[in-house]
Amino acid sequence: MESVKDLDPEIYALVKQEERRQSDKIRMIASENYVSRAVLETTGSVLTNKYSEGYAGKRYYEGQQIIDQVEQLAIQRAKDLFGAEHVNVQPYSGSPANIATYLAFLNPGDTILGMALPHGGHLTHGAQVSISGRYFDAQSYELDATTGLINYDAILEKALAVRPKILIAGHSAYPRILDFARFRAIADEVGALLMVDMAHFAGLVAGGVHPSPVPFADVVTTTTHKSLRGPRGAMILCKAKHAQAIDKAVFPGIQGGPHDNTTAAIAVALKEATSETFKEYTRQIIKNAKTLAQSLMTKSFTLITNGTDNHLMLVDLSNKNISGKKAAKALDKAGIVVNYNAIPFDKRKPFDPSGIRLGTPALTSRGFKEQEMLLVSDFIEKIIGDPENDLLLQQTAEDIRVLCRRFPAPGLEHLR
Ligand SMILES: *Cc1c(COP(=O)(O)O)cnc(C)c1O
Repeated sequence: MESVKDLDPEIYALVKQEERRQSDKIRMIASENYVSRAVLETTGSVLTNKYSEGYAGKRYYEGQQIIDQVEQLAIQRAKDLFGAEHVNVQPYSGSPANIATYLAFLNPGDTILGMALPHGGHLTHGAQVSISGRYFDAQSYELDATTGLINYDAILEKALAVRPKILIAGHSAYPRILDFARFRAIADEVGALLMVDMAHFAGLVAGGVHPSPVPFADVVTTTTHKSLRGPRGAMILCKAKHAQAIDKAVFPGIQGGPHDNTTAAIAVALKEATSETFKEYTRQIIKNAKTLAQSLMTKSFTLITNGTDNHLMLVDLSNKNISGKKAAKALDKAGIVVNYNAIPFDKRKPFDPSGIRLGTPALTSRGFKEQEMLLVSDFIEKIIGDPENDLLLQQTAEDIRVLCRRFPAPGLEHLR
């Protein structure tokens, strides 16, 4: 970044500090990852200079000889990887991808049914503060109060009562695998479209360690930057019969020109995701999550649903005499970055809930395996048990820095 260093030393210094932070800490925010240097380079390429409103062969500006090929490659790779009939790679991010899907099929005031936000649903699944809750009649389903699991009978009952036009499956904080066949059956029973938002677990689907929603759903939306390990962006995968409605909703429905540099980087990430190395990576994400979950439970941590099938776990700290926020702040000081998170039926407020969410995609990208997960579990136990001990936090941060040096993060190998 020599030219940035000369031109804008302030931003240069901040980027360098962020590199250092990402390198020296154990990043456990379940939606974050480390992209490869190839993805970073493509994101920073001159493709950012181009305007290309429209779709390949039907653009509004000239000069698309190269961009059309880039976008078609990204689309073809996504279709091949996920077995989708049609793919749109232009959504700027996961939220616009979901809003575009609503625009494609709904009129204002129509009913959608998704997982409640405090139970693990996303803002764009109908939360009142989101446009998805403001412009539509947003109904929600909740997790089972005793098991913390999805209760499909309750979803069916709710769907029969509210008759949604779109039934939404998908989550940001649910540690189990979804039964897509069951969701499909519920959607069919009430005549709804089924939309699956696989933002969190798309990488696991790509790696073959999580069932694919693609055969079951009318529309699958996903971010590209979480477990899929691509640039910040999104895709919409759908049945051929919905192709036109989806494409029109993305452009000109809610967006202008696509971010072609991102599209190219998505193509690179999709190529990476077809490799045996990536498949092995996703197997390790799950092994790491299961190892950590098991170890935390032996330390009397309460895990929602008593464990995990995927890349994340939700820890209920109610029995540990500490709030989620306080725990997250102490862990961050000690070199473990997590987010505080509501647990199902949380008695505390959303800004200071009872839980923390832990994810393994990023630390697995830097090569952590089961052995390191046991260390992480020990660190977490110590910090949560003594969160105001500044000396302990500092010492742990140093231990973690030493550990992290042995596992250079993708894209940050130069900091080794
Ligand atoms: C992260 C996430 C999104 C939104 O992604 P952004 O890129 O942050 O807009 C949508 N849905 C789910 C389930 C997510 O977890």
